[in-house]
Amino acid sequence: MAEFTLELNDDQKQVRDWLHGFAADVIRPAASEWDEREETPWPIIQEAAKVGIYSLDFYAQQFFDPTGLGIPMAMEELFWGDAGIALSIVGTGLAAVGVLANGTEEQIGTWIPQMYGDADDVKVAAFCSSEPDAGSDVASMRTRAVYDQAKDEWVLNGTKTWATNGGIANVHVVVAVVDPELGSKGHASFIVPPDTPGLSQGQKFKKHGIRASHTAEVVLEDVRVPGHCLLGGKEKLDQRLARARERAASGGERVKNAAMATFEASRPAVGAMAVGTARAAYEVALDYAKTRTQFGRPIIDNQGVAFQLADMRTRIDAARLLVWRASWMATTGKPFESAEGSMSKLYASETAKKVTAQAIQILGGNGFTREYPVERMHRDAAIYTIFEGTSEIQRLVIARTLSGMPIR
Ligand SMILES: Cc1cc2nc3c(=O)[nH]c(=O)nc-3n(C[C@H](O)[C@H](O)[C@H](O)COP(=O)(O)OP(=O)(O)OC[C@H]3O[C@@H](n4cnc5c(N)ncnc54)[C@H](O)[C@@H]3O)c2cc1C
Repeated sequence: MAEFTLELNDDQKQVRDWLHGFAADVIRPAASEWDEREETPWPIIQEAAKVGIYSLDFYAQQFFDPTGLGIPMAMEELFWGDAGIALSIVGTGLAAVGVLANGTEEQIGTWIPQMYGDADDVKVAAFCSSEPDAGSDVASMRTRAVYDQAKDEWVLNGTKTWATNGGIANVHVVVAVVDPELGSKGHASFIVPPDTPGLSQGQKFKKHGIRASHTAEVVLEDVRVPGHCLLGGKEKLDQRLARARERAASGGERVKNAAMATFEASRPAVGAMAVGTARAAYEVALDYAKTRTQFGRPIIDNQGVAFQLADMRTRIDAARLLVWRASWMATTGKPFESAEGSMSKLYASETAKKVTAQAIQILGGNGFTREYPVERMHRDAAIYTIFEGTSEIQRLVIARTLSGMPIR
């Protein structure tokens, strides 16, 4: 187990510099175009696949970095380039992690390669949990999965919403209710293989930010998937449901919520994305403040501007430290006794919103135009306080963890 250090080792520095180069040379120059087009940037994903950034290997290498800093470092650099394009590149990873976390070795080996495709024919994947009436309140999910024993098939019906890559994915991972009596304990995840009849894209959302990332509804009408598409397999599901029923029948002594532990471990990655966007806007603002002259001197010579930059940088560094701490805790198996994962996501996402707004202010009129990137970064930053649990939900989780109250 790695000792904690804030110093990146030589390998990590090399990866960081390589990612930064890709973000600076390929992602950032394309950011404005794909934001305006509001389309998935397939050529950039392909470029990322060619150099090895868009692949399971790359993701796994960062994920298994024993210091825990691989993923946050990668996310910060890619999202520094541009949040919409970066989400198009890492969105498949969300679905892949769903399979890695719950799937059997055979499922991992079969489906993850199909999620990415290859450099000549790139594919994407989608993770579909949210529904029109089940956003923060995941337990009120309605999409049903019913087992057809005679055919060893699962039949999925329902409507998913807000799915990143929904409808354009080669492989969809769908969370559905298998036992409505058990609330969120009665959910299971399914692979929907490519071209399965009954799965269609509903509306594609026109968004405020991260517009290069495709977000859409996914409609499931009598979607039949083979039994082996249940992640983890039927035996494991039956055992898990039996345990949950027993607990419910006996008045239910509370067990630690496994989903919550997973969220604590995954939220720092979103925090790192937010740090990347915040840092990008801060750097633009710092350069601008040093070169823009008013009243005969650079505007940074005014404390009113310089102090804002000092606060921006301080917040960004504090956010990164919270993210790194939580990522290190996840990798080294430390218990999240104070919901440190949620803390990092809360603070980093609020930082991105605040810092990008300050950057607009420092650029004055230019900051308000699409000639400069900070207005896009501010629009993009708004997503971080919403997805993977809103800021209010992070506060709720932190408060309940601190007070020992149950988290549903
Ligand atoms: C661009 C984008 C991409 C996304 N990608 C995916 C994806 O790939 N897969 C997926 O499954 N989902 C995805 N989501 C969904 C996202 O996770 C949800 O939008 C989020 O969980 C919030 O749910 P909601 O939008 O229904 O808001 P609601 O839950 O309706 O919340 C509305 C407001 O009420 C507040 N609120 C709700 N409950 C409480 C409470 N108990 N206490 C205090 N305040 C509360 C919220 O904080 C929020 O401010 C994505 C969303 C967006 C916008």
